[in-house]
Amino acid sequence: MKITIIGTGYVGLVSGAVFADWGHEVMCLDIVDKKIEMIKKGVMPIYEEGLEELVDRVQKEGRFVATTDYKKAVEHGEIIFICVGTPSNESGAADLSYVFKASESIGKYLPENDYRVVVTKSTVPVNTNNSVKESVKKGAGSKKIDFDVVSNPEFLREGTSIYDANNTDRVVIGSSSEKALDKLEEIYKHLETEIVRTDLQSAELIKYAANAFLATKISFINEISQICERTGADVKAVARGMGLDKRIGPKFLNAGIGYGGSCFPKDVEALYRTSSQNFYDFRLLRGVMDANERQKIYFVEKIWNKYGENLSDKTFGVLGVAFKNDTDDVRKSVALEIVKILRGAGAHIKLYDPAAMKNAKKSLGNDYISYMDSSEAVFDEVDALVILTEWQEFASLDYADLTTRMNDKVVFDGRNLLEPEEMQKVGVEYYGIGRSKH
Ligand code: NAD
Repeated sequence: MKITIIGTGYVGLVSGAVFADWGHEVMCLDIVDKKIEMIKKGVMPIYEEGLEELVDRVQKEGRFVATTDYKKAVEHGEIIFICVGTPSNESGAADLSYVFKASESIGKYLPENDYRVVVTKSTVPVNTNNSVKESVKKGAGSKKIDFDVVSNPEFLREGTSIYDANNTDRVVIGSSSEKALDKLEEIYKHLETEIVRTDLQSAELIKYAANAFLATKISFINEISQICERTGADVKAVARGMGLDKRIGPKFLNAGIGYGGSCFPKDVEALYRTSSQNFYDFRLLRGVMDANERQKIYFVEKIWNKYGENLSDKTFGVLGVAFKNDTDDVRKSVALEIVKILRGAGAHIKLYDPAAMKNAKKSLGNDYISYMDSSEAVFDEVDALVILTEWQEFASLDYADLTTRMNDKVVFDGRNLLEPEEMQKVGVEYYGIGRSKH
């Protein structure tokens, strides 16, 4: 099948490469020349395990083409996927300007009387796809075009996105056109997974409901961690005991500094806005957002409680700035926010992240921050170590040896990567999240 992808970010580039790997003829378009130039040369504009090799292979095999030529790209695809960003606007609602710009451009270049399917993979609020349809028509002007719109929300996770695209728990497709759904199913037949066929609105809402539910799980265990800290219970033991219940499951039950990233914060907020716009006060979501905001502050308070709020005579080693492990993405990263808070209180920071250093530099600049070239280097002569991202390599460091390089053996572990007892054994003053002191 001939497939076009509009927007080559985390979702578009990975989806395009994976579709090409499944045997389709894929054309990927972006409006940023530099990204397309890099992709053509086989250099990925984003960090994602295995992506460079995959894109290199499908490009060489002639099934994957990157372009900035909108006309060529839109004419190519029987199915055209919109994968552009939908960040939060100032009010917290989803900014749909990129989606509408893309859909208008699609309309402008759609060939006359040649049936096409326009698929929205970007996360968009319920009922947006009706406007996408209008936007495509607007772009087409007086041309006679023949197309249907489908909502096909994406569930991949950064860091494991190629695996996720090949092993998704389900595919959700929604439209009022059976013909369009049949055509889209042709692509996903490749996967042995459940395909949820539904209407446009339900497909759109499934994505928000799923993300809001996962964010709720995170805020829930973070709230439990607060009770643990006040009672002597251990949040890891509680999470394990809860997660073994199949009705609950173990995932998204790691207490920490709160959820961040380019999806959860904006999607939870956008769903709350959608509910308000429809005259419903989604109180549970307010609590989820509130708990998330407080969790970050509770963690910083552990540092302030030890050193006071003026940190100008302190240097901290910081491990991790990406919003999660295995990605270079720092969008809405809680780790990045905490680094900014510590710096704002006067602290000097020695920082390391295995993949996100370039993005961290862009966002933080050089004031008070030294960018180190290894995990080990952040331990040298610092007053405390602060762990902010759950990279596995941080869990397996030799803390007995490395902490001897510090001015003081103090560790603030915002991801519960380490065990309090192990730390105690090597003489470290350890602060986790909701960990028992017994
Ligand atoms: P991104 O910012 O990484 O990529 C978006 C790309 O679209 C950019 O390369 C940008 O240059 C391009 N673009 C913007 N306007 C364009 C236009 N008019 N025409 C062509 N290209 C244009 O975004 P992302 O993280 O890939 O997310 C895309 C969508 O998928 C969002 O709605 C997001 O919520 C959703 N989503 C993201 C993830 C994730 O983990 N990143 C997971 C599931 C769903």
